[in-house]
Formats: sequence, C-alpha cells, structure tokens
Amino acid sequence: TSQLMAGKRGLIMGLANDKSIAWGVAKACADAGAELALTYQGEAFKKRVTPLAEQLGCTLMADCDVTDMDSVDACFAQIEKEWGGLDFYVHAIGFSDKNELRGRYVDTSRENFRMSMDISVYSFTACTARAEKLMKSGGSCLTLTYYGAEKVMPHYNVMGVAKAALEASVRYLAEDLGKDGIRVNGISAGPIKTLAASGIGDFRYILKWNELNSPLRRNVTIEDVGKSALYLLSDLGSGVTGEIHHVDAGYHAVGMKAVDAPDI
Ligand code: NAD
Repeated sequence: TSQLMAGKRGLIMGLANDKSIAWGVAKACADAGAELALTYQGEAFKKRVTPLAEQLGCTLMADCDVTDMDSVDACFAQIEKEWGGLDFYVHAIGFSDKNELRGRYVDTSRENFRMSMDISVYSFTACTARAEKLMKSGGSCLTLTYYGAEKVMPHYNVMGVAKAALEASVRYLAEDLGKDGIRVNGISAGPIKTLAASGIGDFRYILKWNELNSPLRRNVTIEDVGKSALYLLSDLGSGVTGEIHHVDAGYHAVGMKAVDAPDI
C-alpha cells in the first residue's frame, strides 16, 4: 500500500489519543503516502494530539468542536486556504452522556437525545457539506458506526438510535454527492477499547462476548479498521458508495454460534 494514497490530501476528525479509531485510520493513510490534516476537540486534547500529528509529519491541525458551527467553518476555511482542495475526510466523532449509556433506552432525556443526535449525526452532514465544496475533483467521505444501529446491544441505547440515523445519512449523502464523484461510506467497527467506549456500561463484557462469538474469534483493532478505511478512502473503493462496511471480525453475520449441542 506504499503509494496508494500518494498525492492525496485528507482531513481526519476525531483524534483524541493513540487508542482512537481515528489514529488507526490516520496511520494507515499516512503509511500509504497521504498528506493529512487533523482536528482535535478543544485545548485539552491539543497536548496529546500534537505529538501524534508530528509522528505523521502532519502540520495542518485545527481545533474543532462540532457543536460550534463557527469552529467547523473555520476548520474547513483553513484547509481551503492551505491546500485549496481536499481528496478525502474521515468523521470519527460521537458523543452521548455516559449516564444514559447504561440502564434503559426508554429513560433517555430529551436534552441528551438532542445532544447525541447533534454531535453524532448532524455533524457528519454538516462536515460533509463543507468537504463537498473542497472536493473539486471527486472525493471520499467516511464515518464510523456500530452494530447497535441495527440490533439492540446492551447499554448502547440512544447511541444505537443515533447510529441508525447516521447510517441513513450515509445513504442520503451518497445520493446527493454521487453526481460530483464524491463517495460516502461508513465502517461499522466491532467494539474497541477507546476513550468513547469506556463510557459504555459493561464494556469489558461486550468485548469478551464479541471475542468469543465472532467468526474470527477475536476482537478487531484500530489497525484492522485503518486498513479497511484505506480501501474505502482510496481508489480501491472507486465503485463503492452509500455502503456500511462491517469491520467486526464477522460478528454481524452470526445468528447463533455453534456449540457442542447439549442433550435436550
Ligand atoms: P475516541 O474517544 O477516541 O474518539 C471520539 C472522538 O469524538 C474524540 O476525539 C472526541 O474529541 C470527539 N468528539 C466528541 N464530541 C465532539 C465534539 N463536540 N466536537 C468534536 N469532536 C468531538 O473513541 P473512538 O471509539 O475512536 O470513536 C470514534 C468513532 O468510532 C465514534 O463515532 C464511535 O461511535 C465510533 N465507534 C467506536 C467503536 C468502539 O468500540 N470504540 C465501535 C464502533 C464505532
């Protein structure tokens, strides 16, 4: 993959630390020759993200909080000014009040419903609209989703509802932008221990369950996600848009794992 992304410029949003899925994707893209811009959320993350940016030889960095449209506009304006265009972008951003990532979905508050949808769903549409303007000769947009969009997963609650809306957004955006040669896809990643995931109730149990019950009998890594992202972001994925691609060791394909049948 050494030359796969040579000459391509991409924006990676949602890097918090070296456990972030965004980091797995950024590394894969940089290894394949892409030039990268990174965003982080507020000064608190800047300290941790700066050395990571340096590792990738990336000099374009922007503070971007997606609840503040001025900061989103400023981020894309900075890219336009420095680069004049964009070939790909990755949205690896999600948020919900962790007090509602346990217990029952039915108890979701209006305020957290609104906030989860705004940060985890609308931000992808808002950023894609801005990316579109910079993708003058086509491009590729990618977001991150989870199986909890399709099926009930313990504690995922309002994030499952938000991810379902995010996956629908991928399809609508793919149709809107396809005429301009811009592709829009999602990766549905299996559970990975990250900062965001640590807010989910019983996350260690969810990890173990996936490890034991997925066809590959293991959990996925940010490197696994990075490699699949490379396919969707590069020319290898030229015919793919509106797609939700599972990178979950096959977990989504299983209805029930075979075991030694007990005597019934
Ligand atoms: P992470 O904590 O490393 O990344 C989440 C990022 O979202 C952070 O960088 C955080 O700063 C950013 N963010 C939150 N609110 C924001 C805001 N208002 N403005 C700008 N940025 C904001 O965790 P991660 O697991 O790498 O999460 C990345 C994406 O992957 C999320 O969409 C998540 O739902 C998704 N995902 C994670 C898993 C998993 O098990 N970790 C599985 C499937 C999908």
